[in-house]
Amino acid sequence: MALLLRQAADKSLGIRAFRGSSDKTLAQTYFFSLLCGISRFYNGYWFGFQEESFMRKRLTLLILALPFYFFIGCATNPITGQQELMLFSLQQDVEIGRKYAPELEKQLGGRIANQTLQNYIDSVGRRIAAVSHNPNFEYHFVALNHESINAFALPGGYVFLARGMLEKLKTEAQLAAILAHEIAHIVARDTMNAMSNQMGIDILFSAATSESTPTGVTTVANLTNQIIGLSYSREDEKTADLAGLDYMTWAGYNPYGMVDTIRMLQRLQESRPIEFFSTHPSPENRLGYLTQKIQTQYPNVTTLKVGKQDYNTYVLQNLPPADSD
Ligand SMILES: [Zn+2]
Repeated sequence: MALLLRQAADKSLGIRAFRGSSDKTLAQTYFFSLLCGISRFYNGYWFGFQEESFMRKRLTLLILALPFYFFIGCATNPITGQQELMLFSLQQDVEIGRKYAPELEKQLGGRIANQTLQNYIDSVGRRIAAVSHNPNFEYHFVALNHESINAFALPGGYVFLARGMLEKLKTEAQLAAILAHEIAHIVARDTMNAMSNQMGIDILFSAATSESTPTGVTTVANLTNQIIGLSYSREDEKTADLAGLDYMTWAGYNPYGMVDTIRMLQRLQESRPIEFFSTHPSPENRLGYLTQKIQTQYPNVTTLKVGKQDYNTYVLQNLPPADSD
């Protein structure tokens, strides 16, 4: 039990760096998480959060949050079935996503101005989200006019695909693979975990609970910039890959679309860095566990949709030229 709790604390609070070896006690782990919170609080003070009312608010939020760390903040990850520390409600996932989605769109070139393309991507995304472990979020799937070969998820159901990625994909099943992987991150609440680990749980808590945005370095623009660069743990990526593979297959897509996509990105990476891999682990062992899962769980996939023609008609023929952003 203690080990489970400690693993959950590690996962949610991002305190692996403090925990040098596995024989440290649970109390030490909590002590470091407390230290982490306090140090963030004072860093905030020295690096520009001197405004008194904001300081008070920050301190209050931190104190309010602590009991949740220890006693209340548990949620079941619907994909793994494991209990994880989670301070935020699902409604707060939605609020965070809603708050940061417009700024993320702005920072990554804005929406591609083609409704046929947007509707198509939205319909593929919804088909997959409907069979996921959490179909209850209001999902949004948006294509952005940005050259990076990348995809993003925000908490609460927001998925973004950059034009650079859409240009490289060849089939609807490959599009489904990227969308399913991002949906799995949202369902598992990896984005909320990564945000609280890498940006600071107090900043996220403040962002989730306040209508206004704090002044200083924690503007929506700055936080969005950090969100764009968030990376997930290898364990989270593997879970998202495997759950994503299930989702796309349950939605009727040929799961080899995911293998093809990773292989294609791996080939591209030989000539240039691929943004998608800068926030995701390297492809080698992903191909291994994905292929193995398909062979054991989905040996009969020939009737499932690949959708080369549809992808060509609705996406490739509607993409703006590469120099239009
Ligand atoms: Zn991922």
